[in-house]
Amino acid sequence: MSITLKHMSKSFDHETFAVRETSVSIQEGEFFVLVGPSGCGKSTMLRMIAGLESITAGEIYINGTLANDMPPNKRQISMVFQNYALYPHLTVEENILFGLKVRKIPKKEQKKRCLEACDMLGMTEYLKRKPRELSGGQRQRVALARAVVSQMPICLMDEPLSNLDAKLRGQMRTEIRQLQQKLGITMIYVTHDQVEAMTMADRMMVLKKGEVQQIGKPLDIYNNPANAFVATFIGAPPMNVSNVTTKDGFTLPLTKDITLTSTVNLGEHKEILVGLRPEHIQLEQTATSIAIPAVTKNVEILGNETVMTCLVGDHEWKAKVPGQWNYSEQENITIYVDPANITLFDALASEERI
Ligand code: ATP
Repeated sequence: MSITLKHMSKSFDHETFAVRETSVSIQEGEFFVLVGPSGCGKSTMLRMIAGLESITAGEIYINGTLANDMPPNKRQISMVFQNYALYPHLTVEENILFGLKVRKIPKKEQKKRCLEACDMLGMTEYLKRKPRELSGGQRQRVALARAVVSQMPICLMDEPLSNLDAKLRGQMRTEIRQLQQKLGITMIYVTHDQVEAMTMADRMMVLKKGEVQQIGKPLDIYNNPANAFVATFIGAPPMNVSNVTTKDGFTLPLTKDITLTSTVNLGEHKEILVGLRPEHIQLEQTATSIAIPAVTKNVEILGNETVMTCLVGDHEWKAKVPGQWNYSEQENITIYVDPANITLFDALASEERI
């Protein structure tokens, strides 16, 4: 089932907007991720789609039908929350079947769906346990099983992995993605973790303070960020962004001695943001790169790669280079940058890409 939002807004206080004028069409079977920092309106948007929060302005359509006033139980939506929302006094099986009992699904059908879901999620041996007798990952699977047995064509997930450790998070990312593909359901998934967004989404929406910054496929957004906010939010370590003033329209003086050249005339004496991803800073020269003197500030060797913070004039840049580079602090080094890898942004409030 598809979901279409048209100029959907939410204001809790009639002054500020938690969500402002959001429009998007989410296709049937799509894995769509809402991503952004804390407080940007992700959960509010999800709750409006679920019918748990009223809409201040705009429209929401579910499979083409206007759903603004449709009660939550008529929307054909299942939900998985961050805290799993399990009933502590019920067993795993009772938790999974709770919704089906309320919907008066025949007992035989309930059992069948429960066994299928538990089989899929490797939870069959835990059916008689209580939530407190499960690990975090197993509780998460119960919450997933509950969504699976509901057989709803749309599933909404709100930060479902944030209570798990890093290793389990990685594993569950894959499982949730596979589950969604197998069931062919439409997924709207909320996270503040850009790695989750990048690895799970077919498309994602990047939000800041209730406003949509960009919608697109993860790699398109990574490679062509709409503005400096998106560029620095997506990617780790984030893109380096340096403020410079253009000289003759084309020259971007990075330091007293080092200038970068723009291919478009940017205008004289104009403030410009120069963006450079950490992986685009190299320690070996290539045919097209320029040499830039830098001073190391901090060096972290992660095993197969090294993340360095270095100073280029007044600018603090992070570099991510393959291999182990055992530099000490305050060492004079040369870094190499291919000007083709530089992204320019306006220094105006919108910080749009030029
Ligand atoms: P987080 O990642 O921290 O959960 P979020 O992106 O999901 O954040 P929301 O929870 O949607 O953000 O909140 C968006 C804004 O709306 C915040 O400024 C928040 O304080 C405000 N807000 C959310 N719920 C309410 C409410 N019930 N009453 C008043 N303001 C609210």
